Amino acid sequence: MSTLFRIQYGFGKMVLLMAVVTTFIVSTSMRRLRISGADSQLAGRRRLITGVAEDTVQLQLARRLIKAYPDCIAAVQGNQVIFKNGVKLPLDDGRQKTLIQEYAEADIEDQLRTRYVKGKTPRPAELDDPGRIRNDSLFKVMYGAMPAAVQRNLVTITWLPNTAPQQLRVTRINGVDKKLQAISAELEKLPAMLPYAREAAGTYSWRVIKGTTRLSTHSYGIAIDINTTFSNYWQWDNKTTDEHRKIPQYVNRIPQQIVDIFEKHGFIWGGKWYHYDTMHFEYRPEMLAD
Ligand SMILES: [Zn+2]
Repeated sequence: MSTLFRIQYGFGKMVLLMAVVTTFIVSTSMRRLRISGADSQLAGRRRLITGVAEDTVQLQLARRLIKAYPDCIAAVQGNQVIFKNGVKLPLDDGRQKTLIQEYAEADIEDQLRTRYVKGKTPRPAELDDPGRIRNDSLFKVMYGAMPAAVQRNLVTITWLPNTAPQQLRVTRINGVDKKLQAISAELEKLPAMLPYAREAAGTYSWRVIKGTTRLSTHSYGIAIDINTTFSNYWQWDNKTTDEHRKIPQYVNRIPQQIVDIFEKHGFIWGGKWYHYDTMHFEYRPEMLAD
């Protein structure tokens, strides 16, 4: 091998190595750009830890939302949730909030960030209310902003038609009626579960949560309260409606099997809240989607 060839060979290797490194850097930064490009509003956001990590979290939340509501949500572009009816809502308002503020003023991102765990879980930790932090606008766009608008989409289903028939009014939006009918069919195969499910205490009712000015999800026709005989509610057991107070008691008598069936069909359970409501289930697939 001549000296000249060896120099050329060595130079060639170096060029090749540089090309590989450059390709890697370019492709990595392009990936960053793509993720960042999906949310141009992210720069300077309050929870920005590192650009890439935060962008990825934001994208995951957006994907979860679209996957949960394919009938209603068309896309998330930048910081906007775009609904199929043309309405646009901000995903993130960029504001840092206390828990009490989140109850009243949650944006969609705050709602999605609360972690709801499927299956058997321990007693809820203090102030852990997964799914109870809600962005009212999201529900109003999908289900109706006023009673008349919600009522236009209500249908009557027969709950437990073969064992303890009961007519219930629920929304047909997002297939909530069909999902409740499927839950009812599963419950009817389990005689031991029927006492808990029969004589449901209510579904649609336009009302605020007692002690607050916030709308209950019963207002949208997406919630059901099962039999109150076996139910517990933080306000009843603790003799208060004040959310700011410590709640010493947690009581639950609803079997896990019932919770599992509801969760399988996209409903979250009020028994997993610090402010517990064990008769209450509501259709919240965004909290259950992977
Ligand atoms: Zn309820």
